[in-house]
Amino acid sequence: MSMDILSMTLGELTEEFSAMNIPKFRAKQVYEWLHKHLASDYEEMTNLPKVLREQLSEKFPLFNCSVAKKQVSKLDGTVKYLFEMHDGDFVESVVMKYKYGYTICVSSQVGCKMGCAFCASTLGGFKRSLMPGEILSQLYTAQKDLGERISHIVLMGMGEPLDNYDNVMRFLELITDEKGLNLSMRNISLSTCGIVPKIRELLDKHMQLTLSISLHAPSDELRSRIMPINKRYPVDELLKVCRKYASETSRRISFEYAMLSGVNDSDECASLLASKLKGMLCHVNLIPVNEVAESPFKPSSRETVERFVEILGKNGVNATVRRKLGSDIDASCGQLRQKENKNRKKGVE
Ligand code: SAH
Repeated sequence: MSMDILSMTLGELTEEFSAMNIPKFRAKQVYEWLHKHLASDYEEMTNLPKVLREQLSEKFPLFNCSVAKKQVSKLDGTVKYLFEMHDGDFVESVVMKYKYGYTICVSSQVGCKMGCAFCASTLGGFKRSLMPGEILSQLYTAQKDLGERISHIVLMGMGEPLDNYDNVMRFLELITDEKGLNLSMRNISLSTCGIVPKIRELLDKHMQLTLSISLHAPSDELRSRIMPINKRYPVDELLKVCRKYASETSRRISFEYAMLSGVNDSDECASLLASKLKGMLCHVNLIPVNEVAESPFKPSSRETVERFVEILGKNGVNATVRRKLGSDIDASCGQLRQKENKNRKKGVE
């Protein structure tokens, strides 16, 4: 398949148009319709001649996602979308409201290959990677649906963004393009389970992107048990590249740590974690694990979490407990798609 039009840069679109003998300024118009005005149909592009709109819709069908399901949390207004892609695949996005504005959590793949033991995205298996336009479309569709400007992005939905590296890089290029929505790279976080060579590549780009690392355990013995990727890229190798990333970009790294009761929440774990992170420009986000129906893990108690924070703090490592948003709407990654797939199998709507 040739690339879909929403995934093209303005340069590429201009080239495509010139091969079709369409004047150059039309490429800019279409690009702005798509990326600034968030048009999802050529009919909306009212300053294009009708024949051109018809020609374009035939040559470049628009693959926007559509809202298959929407749940709004009664507790905090968090909105969870189940989006249907043009080929019938489902992905999830979550929009959260913070003091500084709206943040969207987008998916980068349909399913995931990484196999983390506590994560629902892994359960349905891996289907495919998303095109850049399909990642953009989650934000565009949500922004239009909500009627609110979304200013922050976290690549923390379904999938491993660094396992879809080229498409994710192009997504970042398009979303930060001043001719499009022009989001600040500083407002974007990318979360990875730790694919070290790709983190190195990212480092070479010297972007102002915030890096989040799903660490979840301070030792190889423990981390390999819950995160298979650790067998390829062990903790110390991962932390070494993180240290380099933080010092070379001066961007603070976030370490995600899901608290699993009786598994990774001991005092020893906290001390070991602190000793490994000491002196790094970083922050630890502790998240009481979200319970997933098929998984055996239970969230650590409040006291245990507080104790963990205290030990990290005493040892000079900054940590906070992440506020749990949308807990009444299955707002943790992969849960909704999993339900939807099951329901469809059973024939339930
Ligand atoms: N693949 C990427 C991004 C997607 S997961 C990554 O691994 O970072 C987004 C975050 O949610 C990761 O930190 C992941 O480890 C965490 N996560 C997954 N399942 C969870 C659960 N059941 N409870 C709490 N956090 C979870």
